[in-house]
Amino acid sequence: MNLDLTAIPRNVRLFALPILFSTVGLIGMLICAGHGDRNTPLAAMMTGVLQIAFWPALALALLGVSWLARNIWLLWRWQNGEVIGGCTTCGGVMRHEDGRWSQYSRCNICGSKRQGWH
Ligand SMILES: [Zn+2]
Repeated sequence: MNLDLTAIPRNVRLFALPILFSTVGLIGMLICAGHGDRNTPLAAMMTGVLQIAFWPALALALLGVSWLARNIWLLWRWQNGEVIGGCTTCGGVMRHEDGRWSQYSRCNICGSKRQGWH
């Protein structure tokens, strides 16, 4: 088994937030779908709230899954040399950020920084 330890920060950078969004959305959907008894007025009210809250949870889960699929696709294309981004180190796609002193770009693949937006 070929385990690439240097890819761990890249995988965290690319996949941590999408997986978090997907997981939170799915857990929210499970909580909202599994509403229990409606015997008390509070439980009946919470049932309505949970039925409404199901849709934002579904949207969050769909956003996370599609973001995850996009980043997997981006990484796969970068590994096959099909992405020519602004990174001078690895050719990866940069994301634009505002720093304390100026605007800069950070590579999504290798994490290197470069002044200005590229
Ligand atoms: Zn790079």
